[in-house]
Amino acid sequence: MTAHNPAWPAVFAGDVFAVLGLGRNGLPAALALRSMGAVVTVWDDQPEARAAAAREGLRVALPAHTASLTALILSPGIPHRLPKPHPQAALILARGVPIWSDAEALFIAARRAGSEAKFLGITGTNGKSTTTALTAHILQRAGMSVAAGGNLGPAALALPLLDKTGFYVLEMSSYMLERIATMRFNAAVMLNLSPDHLDRHGSFAEYAIVKAGIFARQTQADTAVVGVDDPASELIATQMASRPVPLVRISGERVADLYAQNKVLQDQHGALADLGMARALPGTHNAQNAAAASALAMAVGVPRTMIGPALLDFPGLPHRQALIREIDGISFINDSKATNADATARALACHERVIWIAGGVAKSGGITSLAPYLPRVAHALLIGQASADFATTLAANGVAHSVVDTLDRAVESAFALARAQNVPIVLLAPACASFDQFANYEARGERFAALVQQLAEHRTGGAA
Ligand code: ADP
Repeated sequence: MTAHNPAWPAVFAGDVFAVLGLGRNGLPAALALRSMGAVVTVWDDQPEARAAAAREGLRVALPAHTASLTALILSPGIPHRLPKPHPQAALILARGVPIWSDAEALFIAARRAGSEAKFLGITGTNGKSTTTALTAHILQRAGMSVAAGGNLGPAALALPLLDKTGFYVLEMSSYMLERIATMRFNAAVMLNLSPDHLDRHGSFAEYAIVKAGIFARQTQADTAVVGVDDPASELIATQMASRPVPLVRISGERVADLYAQNKVLQDQHGALADLGMARALPGTHNAQNAAAASALAMAVGVPRTMIGPALLDFPGLPHRQALIREIDGISFINDSKATNADATARALACHERVIWIAGGVAKSGGITSLAPYLPRVAHALLIGQASADFATTLAANGVAHSVVDTLDRAVESAFALARAQNVPIVLLAPACASFDQFANYEARGERFAALVQQLAEHRTGGAA
């Protein structure tokens, strides 16, 4: 399957790129660059990925062997600094060749093609994908021409060429932000900051600096939107206030320029929406996402009156607070995307009482920060590598728990416990990465959904 768009002119004729890492970003990027006229060589440490690229007719070679490179397009998952630079990336850096994310290449391609499409960027530790999808939804509903992607997919370079009336809405991970050079966002948001990916960024301070790079090169014609619900983001808002860039402070819980309180999204002109009616945006974390998306949309000209209706009919994204189904009055909710403690805190905060399924590969700090939410947990079922560590924290907080090792066993036990204890919610919100037992969080969420369906079919003798 080729992901390039034939409408792109040969904006990279005469340029030479190496693409390292041929996953869901790298392969579409290589194909798009080739269709834009560039000479492209590709590499992946996995032979199967190299074979797939060769089948597309791409030239497979070690990138450091390629002469006169314009840039190295390095997949987000491959480090060029910490914890250890990939050897090919190190060789290329030593030659003084720039390393770009594919979003930087998209920006350059659009400008070289003469497009004046606007770029909207979304970053933060949690809520990026939801906010990206929600922003695109609001713009689309307002009749604007939108291409959304980046970290949540499709890859930035797989997006079509938009003319000057178009809007690119891009989810920017920290790995992408550390690889941009000229990209300028007409409107950008930093949602929140909590420790994540510190192995790649060295320290929380460095991570925050990389994230704040989303506002680099913004001018007074642009808009910076900053969440103020955590101290590190608030500090960035304070720093931004000394720049000439128009600043919109947003909050999911307290008064700011655009904020939600008691589920009412509002600004100085009054209410924009009753978020209690927005089915796919439960909780204060989603109030923050709604505030962010609304601020971005209004910054690029969406009329105020169009914001509320668009928030209310946002369908939501899979694996985030997604109701799989109810069985005997018990709701099974898939929040497999809660891969760190902060995201899990938000997920737990949406419910009064839950049977909680957690575990996998823990992030730094484990679940110690979840103590205020643990009274909501009637019983925790622990899977994967983090089980022993999480069990210690739960025991210290007096929370009933069992180590069940696998998701299959967790779903079975969760149903039995929920019925026995009259708990209305079974919540998968693992506070962990998934790669000890699954390919990714999507596979984990899909397995959860399949197990819940099986359970339902079993209950009704296969008639469900
Ligand atoms: P990201 O793309 O940044 O990982 P998502 O929108 O995919 O963010 O949401 C990831 C998880 O984070 C979800 O499981 C959700 O429970 C939680 N979450 C969503 N928005 C926020 C937010 N604004 N603050 C904290 N947690 C959030």
